[in-house]
Amino acid sequence: MPFSNFGLGKDILRAIQKAGYTRPTPVQVAAIPKVMQGNDLIAIAQTGTGKTAAFVLPMLHRISLANQQGQPRGTKALILAPTRELALQIMENIRAYGNGLPIRVAAIFGGVEEEAQIKAVRKGVDMIVATPGRLIDLMERQKVDFSMLEMLVLDEADRMLHMGFLPDIETIIKDLPKRRQTLMFSATLSKEVESLARRFLYQPKMVQIGKRSNPADTVVQCVYEVPAHLKSQMLLALLRQSHFTRVLVFVRMKDGANVLTNFLKLAGVKVARLHSSRSQEQRLQALQDFKDGKVQVLVATDIVARGIDIDGVSHVVNYDFPVNPEDYVHRIGRTGRAEAQGEAISFVPKGDLNLLGMTELSIGQRLERKRLRGFDYHATTPAPAAGEKPEKRDWRKRTREIEAKQTAKSAPKKPASKKPTDKRGRK
Ligand code: AMP
Repeated sequence: MPFSNFGLGKDILRAIQKAGYTRPTPVQVAAIPKVMQGNDLIAIAQTGTGKTAAFVLPMLHRISLANQQGQPRGTKALILAPTRELALQIMENIRAYGNGLPIRVAAIFGGVEEEAQIKAVRKGVDMIVATPGRLIDLMERQKVDFSMLEMLVLDEADRMLHMGFLPDIETIIKDLPKRRQTLMFSATLSKEVESLARRFLYQPKMVQIGKRSNPADTVVQCVYEVPAHLKSQMLLALLRQSHFTRVLVFVRMKDGANVLTNFLKLAGVKVARLHSSRSQEQRLQALQDFKDGKVQVLVATDIVARGIDIDGVSHVVNYDFPVNPEDYVHRIGRTGRAEAQGEAISFVPKGDLNLLGMTELSIGQRLERKRLRGFDYHATTPAPAAGEKPEKRDWRKRTREIEAKQTAKSAPKKPASKKPTDKRGRK
């Protein structure tokens, strides 16, 4: 089915063509007609399937039609997302798909000065993309007006619930007009997600793409069983292979991200890092450098990398195996996006074999075990990295300390405590 069958306006079709999309993805085929008809919708689709365009395109169409008909302007659409990175990404997509349309959009999220955001909203915007905490702040101080709101999207609903945003979502929705179209996107359909839908959606249609919590089919997955103290050397050995062009490396903790980044830098690898203790500018710069190909590797923790859309990620490496099977699915979804092929590699030391087992059970698939030819699996200490200065070698001690800390932390985490907060204690 071509995009032209959806009844979208000419300008939007032109923007889609400019983006290089030749045909809609399955979630777009299934969801766009239902949204265009004005239904509420639950869409179970993993990130990387083209789900953002599935809600953004019909929303742009509806708003631009209302504007053309001379209907009063106002904020007609609100999109709630779990992280500021995702909020910014959605805003970028809206700008790309709405290129040529006189539609104004603003993003509202914590961790940066609020003045610019308030100013943007005050000028009048058609759409707002927001993380819940900062939005509540502005709503309480009446800096935003949702009296004209017609559409609400809860994006990555499972993730928002996981991060403890349910009370915030309730507070926000309580103050929105009751007559509205509500769309909910989630990677998984848990009981909590179903209950959220029952409370806030009206006779929703349902769209489910791919199997429940199964990783995207386009990702080739494998496991290297490697001793914990040799993980950094193995990563380096892999990175030296020519097809590891754009590599996203996941670690469990911020400390670990810093140490691994330093190690890779010393070994001459171009690398950036992304975690919640870095400033907003640093995080955006790291992402940009990775997107532009200025660095080969981005070392990241789960919280910030969730939902991030970067084209052409050749490999995802689970340097630290994820504690939650759900995080595994999300991590590997960073590669093999849209129609591309990708590879996801997991390092699994003995201490993490139980986590691997849990994940395999959850995704209903045994992951292929691989061995890296020529790699010394029996080395007692890692060899120094090429170019490593002797005085900087204390990274090994730090790595050992961090790994000991991580083993202690392998118990399932409390999601709410990980939430980055703003000065009022909310994200
Ligand atoms: P999302 O699941 O919304 O994060 O989208 C993942 C990626 O798919 C993004 O890079 C989009 O630009 C891309 N994309 C969305 N729709 C299409 C399409 N119809 N054809 C090709 N790529 C698409």
